[in-house]
Amino acid sequence: MYIIMLGGPGSGKGSVGGRVSEDFNLPHIATGDIFRAELKSETELGKKIKKYMDNGLLVPDEVVIETVESRLSQEDVKNGAILDGFPRTKDQAIALDKFLAEKGKKVDAAIELDVSDEDIVKRIVKRVICSNKSCGESYNTEFKPSKEEGICDKCGSTLIKRADDNEETVMQRLKVYHDTSKELLEYYKDTGVLYTVHPNIYSKTVLEDSVSEVETYLKNK
Ligand code: AMP
Repeated sequence: MYIIMLGGPGSGKGSVGGRVSEDFNLPHIATGDIFRAELKSETELGKKIKKYMDNGLLVPDEVVIETVESRLSQEDVKNGAILDGFPRTKDQAIALDKFLAEKGKKVDAAIELDVSDEDIVKRIVKRVICSNKSCGESYNTEFKPSKEEGICDKCGSTLIKRADDNEETVMQRLKVYHDTSKELLEYYKDTGVLYTVHPNIYSKTVLEDSVSEVETYLKNK
């Protein structure tokens, strides 16, 4: 099963996608995580994408598509994956469909997490993530604090703020999201695979509720 997670920055697609990935035993591929690792290691790719990421802009399609196709060619994803943060544009979606079709595969579901801009800003400026790349757990100092301040509940590593999780960059990322997501959502609506969830971010069980709704939908597909 190939499942796409759609939604603005901070909509929860990483957290929900991560849980569905564990429960359905499918690798979780987050382009943002791949790019942050490249930035940190100062690879050639990292140097190429830095200016886009620092400014909340989209990395050019051809760079993203090449990165994802290379990841999707690996053995562990031959039966499916959860794609998080990709595709972000209609051209990326078309490239993905073409790539999968060549292997006799297809996108099975595109899950949209629909959260208002106001709620996204509230959520994202208080987001902290685990510094341990293989964990990557996400917290919110107001809505979902870790048990011990600054320490990850799951693996005990330090919690850090993402460089692009500040109000100014978030506004820019939201603008980019609105500019590009409309035609992407329409694309998946037209292909009949779009399913929209409306998470209540003020609920303490928002993550569990969203995961349960998504998994029920996927199981009944
Ligand atoms: P994210 O962690 O998904 O919020 O992504 C962080 C940043 O990585 C974005 O603001 C973009 O600069 C870049 N990025 C991640 N995925 C994509 C994509 N599919 N297309 C273009 N840029 C991307």
